[in-house]
Amino acid sequence: MKLTLKMKMRPLTRNKEWMLEQSIGAFRACVNDWLSAIAQLGEKPNRGNLHRFAYRRIRDKYPQLHSNVVQDAMNLAIEIHRSWLKNGGNFPEFHSDVIYFKGIDVKIENNGLVVPLMGKRVYLPLYVPKKFKKYLQYKHGRVIIKRIGKDWYAFLSINVPEKEPVKPIGAIGVDLGYYNLLVASDEKGREVMRVQGDALIKHKEHLEKLTARRQQRLMKKFGIYAKTNHKDKKFVNDLNHKIAKELVLKAKQLNRAIVLEKLKGLKRQKRPKQLRKILHRWSYADLITKIIYKAKLHGVPVIFVSPRGTSKMCSNCGYYVKGFKNERVFKCPKCGFQLDRDLNAARNIAKRAFLPLEASSSQRR
Ligand SMILES: [Zn+2]
Repeated sequence: MKLTLKMKMRPLTRNKEWMLEQSIGAFRACVNDWLSAIAQLGEKPNRGNLHRFAYRRIRDKYPQLHSNVVQDAMNLAIEIHRSWLKNGGNFPEFHSDVIYFKGIDVKIENNGLVVPLMGKRVYLPLYVPKKFKKYLQYKHGRVIIKRIGKDWYAFLSINVPEKEPVKPIGAIGVDLGYYNLLVASDEKGREVMRVQGDALIKHKEHLEKLTARRQQRLMKKFGIYAKTNHKDKKFVNDLNHKIAKELVLKAKQLNRAIVLEKLKGLKRQKRPKQLRKILHRWSYADLITKIIYKAKLHGVPVIFVSPRGTSKMCSNCGYYVKGFKNERVFKCPKCGFQLDRDLNAARNIAKRAFLPLEASSSQRR
């Protein structure tokens, strides 16, 4: 699987910074030259016809750029042109402070990159977070260097080998909700994990309000929208990381598959109002994405099942309680079984992993 690592660059010497600025300026001009070449070409551009049409000329104009960088500029111009055809507007012009390198031209060493700049190989030191160190041993693909504000960043695409999923001995059903952000249960109704949602969601909403208020103040004072500090988003992102990690490690330790409700297939407008409200409260889609990718890294299988009626069904006898509303405890009128509402739902989800596909209309991946 592919991961993109974003790393900040350590302060550069003046000379290196100058070389980077020169190269980025040349790359920008080069992409724009490719865009004009596309306009002159008069047919739908692809790598073949565009290369034949203008490569020699553009290559000679930018001797300071590595030949693969000139080709990457061409590929980028084709992409930009394609999205312009789709979206319309003025003929595109490229403005970004960015440069692309093919993986093969970049070496990773000493917590930094060695890239071709102005005909030389230049070492650019990076701040490498501890959690990224283990990924740097793997093969890397494209490297993008970008200026954001005053700082330079490198975006490194890494091919991380996936672990072969183990054959699980059981399942852990995961119920995502509002009152409890997450409740996980095995197929016997034994609780594996619980994250209470109330306090977290309140805190997130508090941070959102702070951001909004700050914006209003600045709007009044300067008549501009300030850049948000995104504290609320960072809070959700960090917490989703932690929750996903804990869940995946627990599943790995217990040698069980993770079972999730398949919500992705539902079209946004078709989601029931209640669900839409819940989805707005927390980034569940982000949490699910994080669970899936961490599970891949750890070789934990993930199974998707139909979400239909998981909270209204008795996980003991399978009886469907039509009128079940918002009580915290699920009580089955048929068999008398009682269980925490979310735990009951999580257990139903876990059990569905073992039903034949048609019965649960689930999708296995
Ligand atoms: Zn029952």
